[in-house]
Amino acid sequence: LLRLEDVHKSYGTERVLRGISLEIERGDVEVLVGPSGSGKSTLLRCLNRLTEVDEGDIYLGDLEVTGENNPNEIRQQIGMVFQDINLFAHLTARKNVTLGLRKVRGMDETEARERADAELARVGLADQADSYPAQLSGGQKQRVGIARALAMDPEVMLFDEPTSALDPELSNEVLAVMRELVEDGMTMVVVTHEMRFARGAASSISFLESGEIVERGPPDRMFDDPKEERTKRFFESIR
Ligand code: ATP
Ligand code: MG
Repeated sequence: LLRLEDVHKSYGTERVLRGISLEIERGDVEVLVGPSGSGKSTLLRCLNRLTEVDEGDIYLGDLEVTGENNPNEIRQQIGMVFQDINLFAHLTARKNVTLGLRKVRGMDETEARERADAELARVGLADQADSYPAQLSGGQKQRVGIARALAMDPEVMLFDEPTSALDPELSNEVLAVMRELVEDGMTMVVVTHEMRFARGAASSISFLESGEIVERGPPDRMFDDPKEERTKRFFESIR
């Protein structure tokens, strides 16, 4: 479903992605791990055109993500949830979700509202549709962010450390929603330090270092029997 072919990205003289190739099938959950600065966020940003690649191609099915497309079209099909929960403070949870539906999808108010309420219910926030971000916990805000991305009916969801700003209890609420998405068969690319989630939910884990995929494999093998010295050291360091 999602295919990266030899993707390169530099910032100035710093080579942040050095030839990333990856294939992700429909319904797969790819977890990206690796040290700070290894290029995980940059890779996700390339996947939904928040960042342009320098070299290489990315395809979503037959659609060339890196081609001459409207980035908004890509972003409808590849939703993203960020670490810093970026909701509009002056809008209710429901309005945060309907905004994209109205502006990008051109839905009318009633239809957008129904859709938003359905997605808010899906993430356990049916009661909070009229709340403003300041009235919500971090975990609730993050779930509004997930509902907002889901409302666009994406083919793929990207998560960049969605729980790292949250304390454990709130993280668990968000992880529970993510696990439900996994069960629903959503294709996901997830950057996370939540190793329990990674082990339980990933189809495959990629370990990135210095802009390269050093090793990729099924979670049990990556945790218990990594082949590469660098992967071993990484998993030991986070244990
Ligand atoms: P972390 O685990 O800390 O989130 P990461 O693996 O997500 O790290 P990236 O955010 O992708 O790493 O950053 C990779 C490198 O690219 C870093 O050295 C960073 O400083 C650099 N970088 C990222 N974005 C930019 C930018 N917009 N301009 C210049 N350099 C950038
Ligand atoms: Mg990052």
